[in-house]
Amino acid sequence: MPYTLLIRHCGQLLTLAGPPATRPLAGPDQANWRIIADGYVACENDRIVAVGPMAELDEGQLTPATRIVEAHGRVVMPGLVECHTHLVFGGQRAAEFERKLRGESYLDILAGGGGILSTVRATRAASEAELLADALRHLADFRRYGVTTLEAKSGYGLDAETELRLVRVAREAGRQQPVRVVPTFLGAHVPGPEYAGRPADYLAMLVADVLPRLDPAEVPFVDIFCEQGAFSVAESRQYLAAARDLGFGLKIHAEQMHELGGCEMAAQLGAISLDHADYLSTAAAARIAAATQGRTVAVLLPLVPLFLRLEQYAPGRAFIDAGLPVALSTDFNPGSCPSKNLWLALSMGCLKMGLTPAEAVAAVTRNAAWAIGQQQECGSLAPGLRADVLVLNVATLPEIPYWLGDNPVRQVFIGGELVAENP
Ligand SMILES: [Zn+2]
Repeated sequence: MPYTLLIRHCGQLLTLAGPPATRPLAGPDQANWRIIADGYVACENDRIVAVGPMAELDEGQLTPATRIVEAHGRVVMPGLVECHTHLVFGGQRAAEFERKLRGESYLDILAGGGGILSTVRATRAASEAELLADALRHLADFRRYGVTTLEAKSGYGLDAETELRLVRVAREAGRQQPVRVVPTFLGAHVPGPEYAGRPADYLAMLVADVLPRLDPAEVPFVDIFCEQGAFSVAESRQYLAAARDLGFGLKIHAEQMHELGGCEMAAQLGAISLDHADYLSTAAAARIAAATQGRTVAVLLPLVPLFLRLEQYAPGRAFIDAGLPVALSTDFNPGSCPSKNLWLALSMGCLKMGLTPAEAVAAVTRNAAWAIGQQQECGSLAPGLRADVLVLNVATLPEIPYWLGDNPVRQVFIGGELVAENP
């Protein structure tokens, strides 16, 4: 079958391809993927069928119907994979942001009914149609940034019916626009207000009443926030083990504010990703990398300490050197990161976590795909994968983190279709 789409004269084609095939990019591999100078990407309908240097392009596969996109020497790369968002929520917290800037502490705001519980009230009060409209608006913004696959967590309902509604909205949002949405169940974000002081009872309710109503084929991951004020390591272990027994993949928010041991516990249970990890020690990272043979991804979220004005960033450089695969994400949510700019997170991963440009690009593509079990579909440019491709406005890889805060995206293709074009 002839090519339906050809993107040619890519000055640097960032393929993110190369060995190993059976685990995420770890250690030196995170920077040692293949870049092709003056390359092309060819697609048949929604799949990539050939990638290589222009000199090897098979012109015989072109027909008058082939859509030809000239990259004019620019960088071309896989669509971004956004592997940690809280996409669906009601309201926003700009007034609380202003109070914090004036000096009020998060605990003061929480004591006055603010913080996460204000989002829970707004989310419970919102209709399904309102939540869907907001989620679609956010997805349109992500798409303009070049995000082509996005993980979306529930977690602002904190009761059985609202949590199930948030999962439904995430799935429906995925069906109504081109960015592919991978839902994660984070009912265990914090104990619901009706369960204040009874976190174990809240988790028992989720295991008994909610998890059995979710299908792991549709909602592949269960997540929990393991932190002071949320759930203990022991509670998290019991909950994640129950979720695993029901067939779900596992994720954890851990070591965000304190080193409690949540990351190591979740890795022992076979978690696919360990998220935040700002307080994860290098020694623990090395133990996790060895125990999981580099299969568990640390998802680092540098816009969170930025937005919360905290000093502690995850030591991403040390994690990579210890053999732990690293992904980067925004953690888009109304409280600790209202930004959808994954490019800014990529730059901050370089500036505050010590990643190189090549490592950081792998962290928002191939390793991010592994962090949500989508590596057979997206995250690199190789035959058989989805035709999710970005044409950027820059000519070289280091320019990606360099233009701090910019959106370098010129054209976004999802499944071989042009879905966004920035002027
Ligand atoms: Zn999060």
